[in-house]
Amino acid sequence: MISKILIANRGEIALRIVRACRELGIKTLAVYSEADEQSLHVQLADEAICIGPASPSESYLKADRIISAAEISDVDAIHPGYGFLSEKAEFVEQCESCKIKFIGPSSEIIRNMGDKALAIETARKAGIPTVPGSDGVIPTTEEAVKVAESIGYPVLIKAVSGGGGKGMRVAHNSAAFHKEFEVAKAEAEKAFGDGDVYLEKFINNPRHIEFQILADNHGNVVHLGERDCSVQRRHQKLIEEAPSPFLTDELREKMGNAAIQAAKSVGYTNAGTIEFLVDEDGNFYFIEMNTRIQVEHPVTEEITDTDLIKEQIRITDGQKLRFTQDEIVINRHAIECRINAEDPMRNFAPCPGTIDLYYPPGGHGVRVDSHVYGGYQIPPYYDSMIGKLITYGRNREIAMDRMYRALGEFIISGIKTTIPFSKAIMQDPVFRNGKATTKFIEEFVERANMDTLLQSNHNIE
Ligand code: ADP
Ligand code: ADP
Ligand code: MG
Repeated sequence: MISKILIANRGEIALRIVRACRELGIKTLAVYSEADEQSLHVQLADEAICIGPASPSESYLKADRIISAAEISDVDAIHPGYGFLSEKAEFVEQCESCKIKFIGPSSEIIRNMGDKALAIETARKAGIPTVPGSDGVIPTTEEAVKVAESIGYPVLIKAVSGGGGKGMRVAHNSAAFHKEFEVAKAEAEKAFGDGDVYLEKFINNPRHIEFQILADNHGNVVHLGERDCSVQRRHQKLIEEAPSPFLTDELREKMGNAAIQAAKSVGYTNAGTIEFLVDEDGNFYFIEMNTRIQVEHPVTEEITDTDLIKEQIRITDGQKLRFTQDEIVINRHAIECRINAEDPMRNFAPCPGTIDLYYPPGGHGVRVDSHVYGGYQIPPYYDSMIGKLITYGRNREIAMDRMYRALGEFIISGIKTTIPFSKAIMQDPVFRNGKATTKFIEEFVERANMDTLLQSNHNIE
């Protein structure tokens, strides 16, 4: 039995893991950087060890220090959260060789699915539709141009190690391709230490629809429905919801089966997400698999009444899934707004600082996952997401009205946040009618008069 877990992450997800462990009666060890000493997860965990300076490369990415902390404190397992070491196969190998359980799939699976080009090849072999594109990594510009011509413009150049919306460039024609290709490679090298890129046809106006998978170590695989994450800025999700307003029952079943097949084809275990793009005609294409818990997992939890972090821990503990596909019933709708310390008026530029006043919303059907509080100083070294607001109810309209109401109650003063922006989206007819595609935010910003819109939606200065 797992009785103590090290949480190799920070922020809201670290707190989320502390909460799940506490309910399971499992002890927690927080590891933190010098910048995070005042963070709530450090205070709420049973034990805490400082692993280094603020910079992620000196702390949250330092595998050796994290393993040492695990050994000193005698933990049974490590939960990696998302980002940081969560998809680093070498880290999982280190855990495996130290006989510490990694809460996630094996290093081999992470290696195969974490490389985006390799994952696409695996999906293709399993008979799952993928976006027309290159056969894996393209080394030279000359070769890339040929492939781009045959795919047809616009073409997307994507980093095999990319993530978090980074490492992607669109080329609209052959004249622009050379430069974009070189820039993409250089950026990928800098951001991920891996300059390998591949090509995909740029799908016009798609929806991003992903399926949540759970797989135990006994061959059982289920999906817990989909999440629609089409509302994105710079290829990064801002608002997510479940179920998707776009999917018919027929398409949902087809995509759900494809997701399960993708997981089974690699012998996947633990929680994972299969991401698809869906075009205007309802054709769907596998784009990647995330071999970890995702930021937007709460919307699935609220519509299926499950605790995905607890399920991850139970799976790692060797337990069998406690439900079959038929037993997963969805009769609610949930929406999540990411609360980012960003200025929507300045192209979502991060704006860390000190939160003076913090008052989260409450009431029926409202959930807040956040590690911040009044007086909290947001460190500038990490992701700008400082929390998530989730609302749910019997149907989509209730969830949207509730989100609008809850965003209106949410007070975070002293810094700029995405709250007023998301509040405006909750009233937008395109979003309300369930018609948002990945182009939504761009078009919304053009359509709306941002000044008056954000002013009228601002609750407090
Ligand atoms: P999700 O995929 O869970 O919906 P994101 O794509 O925003 O959410 O990723 C979650 C977090 O992990 C973000 O903080 C993001 O910056 C980080 N992240 C994801 N993939 C990578 C990667 N390959 N390299 C570095 N950071 C990543
Ligand atoms: P990441 O690893 O950063 O999450 P993804 O491959 O999941 O990268 O893509 C992130 C987003 O970029 C998608 O949700 C979608 O909005 C956009 N995108 C990715 N591939 C394509 C494509 N071939 N055509 C159009 N948009 C795409
Ligand atoms: Mg993705």
